[in-house]
Amino acid sequence: MSLKVDVIGNGTVIDHIPGGRGLLCLKVLGIESIDSPVILLSNVSSNNKGGKKDLIKIEDRFLTPKEHNKLAIIAPGATVNIINDTHVTDKRLISVPEKFVDVICCTNPNCVSNTESYISSSFAVERKEPLEVRCSYCDRVVGAKQLLRQVIG
Ligand SMILES: [Zn+2]
Repeated sequence: MSLKVDVIGNGTVIDHIPGGRGLLCLKVLGIESIDSPVILLSNVSSNNKGGKKDLIKIEDRFLTPKEHNKLAIIAPGATVNIINDTHVTDKRLISVPEKFVDVICCTNPNCVSNTESYISSSFAVERKEPLEVRCSYCDRVVGAKQLLRQVIG
């Protein structure tokens, strides 16, 4: 079965989201505050080896770098297509960066990134699968579950 979805004029298409994670991605983007049309396709078959993927189309909405980084926690491997005037003008892969800066908070309440407001949080990626990051200030290790909880609020 092939699913055809109308082309959008301007906006963002996030493709190759791991199956079932589309709704979480929309949560990260603040679905309740999006006024423009949104399409979510969930668990459609992806080309490679019978896997499943989710796909999101949002009209007139583009991702901030921070949202991009948050999506790296939920949907690494997804692709972001920027649509301008019905054409894909930019395509980016969502991959786990070497560092997360000002994206998540340290779970150590005494960490200087929590106690001093002028210091942005910073985490080095220790492991990508499952994701594990280490605070650059206090060395606290934060795991995938905690990260997920933080980005979806
Ligand atoms: Zn810390």
